Amino acid sequence: MNVYDSEQMAMRLAEAGYQQTAKLEKADLVLLNTCTVRAKAEQKAFSFLGRLASLKKKKPALIVGVGGCIAQQEGDKILERVPHVDLVFGTRAMDRLPALVAKIEAKRRRIVDVSMSEDSDTHNPTPANAVHNPVSRFVTIMRGCDNYCTYCVVPYVRGRETSRHPDRIIAEIKSLVAYGAKEITLLGQNVNSYGKKEGLPSFAKLLDRIRDLDGLYRIRFTTSHPKDFGDDLIHAFETNDKLCRHIHLPVQSGSNRILKQMNRKYTRELYLDKVAKLRDTCPDIAITSDMIVGFPGESPHDFEETMDLMRKVEFDGLFAFMYSDRPNAAATRFGGKISDDQKNERLQILLDLQKSYTKAKNKALIGTVQTIIAEGPSKRQSSGSSKEQSHAVQWTGRTTTNKVVNFYHDDSSEDRGALLPGYLVRVEIEKAYAHSLWGMPVEIEPTADGLKGENSYAA
Ligand code: SAH
Ligand code: SF4
Repeated sequence: MNVYDSEQMAMRLAEAGYQQTAKLEKADLVLLNTCTVRAKAEQKAFSFLGRLASLKKKKPALIVGVGGCIAQQEGDKILERVPHVDLVFGTRAMDRLPALVAKIEAKRRRIVDVSMSEDSDTHNPTPANAVHNPVSRFVTIMRGCDNYCTYCVVPYVRGRETSRHPDRIIAEIKSLVAYGAKEITLLGQNVNSYGKKEGLPSFAKLLDRIRDLDGLYRIRFTTSHPKDFGDDLIHAFETNDKLCRHIHLPVQSGSNRILKQMNRKYTRELYLDKVAKLRDTCPDIAITSDMIVGFPGESPHDFEETMDLMRKVEFDGLFAFMYSDRPNAAATRFGGKISDDQKNERLQILLDLQKSYTKAKNKALIGTVQTIIAEGPSKRQSSGSSKEQSHAVQWTGRTTTNKVVNFYHDDSSEDRGALLPGYLVRVEIEKAYAHSLWGMPVEIEPTADGLKGENSYAA
């Protein structure tokens, strides 16, 4: 989500004449896009801001801005806490950013804009040359959240849930495809409730419209909420040939008592039922999740329920977090807080179990041929001793199940032809690591407009 927002900021500033630089010391304007979902992210942001003090001392004309969730949450308190910050802009102040920067340049005064009033749809497609990965792009389909999970700060810093009109979304994706995108990830805090409030077509219908776009090969989305995960979406995995075989379905806990305290509005039974249905419909689907350990009042029994759910589902991957108090979130006021040592211990137990599943699932892919979309060369091989290897370039891409695959492509060899970002590559998997796979390319297919979804391609 933050990558997309940062791209939007960069694009708006490019229109105002700013250029991006990879060197911090060269910059006239430094913007920090922040996240406050967990306490650790917030600490990191403030420590980075602290380090900018010396740069500002050397270069007093430097403009330092803080955007995103911490800006929204803390507002002018940031100006008090960090004297070298010039601008604080909230999560809905993006389209005002160039004007705010211009004002600071002209008047050299500090500005805070955390107004939530902006509600017009001002997202625009960022050109390929302004982004890190032009092949795989993000598109926000909704902002904010109305769910109020008791541990979560998002509804307070991102505002009410608002869905973008499908026509705007389709237009943005079409432009991104014209810029070379082959894969789109649709973003929202709870994509399953897309359009419900506004009376727009459902998320599954939106997926159907996106499937019909020529030149687009893959559709991903994140995040889904189990409580709104309907049969129409499960069915989409059967009927939509561009929909990737991966679902990120955060469960947060395996204990019904804790799920209730979290205000998640589903039970472990409902969650397990959704997983069973998904696997019934699409047996090769990869399922990943988020889990919080040490939520206030989490007993050893609750934690065992979480471990039990993990054993029942066997996730392909898991983001696990130690619970932290967040401003305004209801659980901050709950009793029964768990000590850091206890949280840490539970996190390690959970991660160890997950590691065994990730490893086993990756290992099971050895010997199979996986189709990936080449995202780009990651590095030129430096230590290759044989002559053939000296032209080999390491490429990277992802399977439909969202597993990273690395491989060498020899750009001087003629047997497999040239490789460009965005091409489909069929890779025979040879090795499995904890977070990636390694293989040998066996077929390269240049992509062209108008091809069908890759699931029909692979058939
Ligand atoms: N909208 C998504 C989650 C967004 S926040 C959803 O509903 O699943 C991303 C993840 O951060 C959450 O899934 C949760 O696991 C974690 N998280 C959020 N608040 C947290 C907190 N206070 N402490 C620890 N982890 C938290
Ligand atoms: Fe936070 Fe819950 Fe909304 Fe996700 S659904 S953003 S966890 S309040």
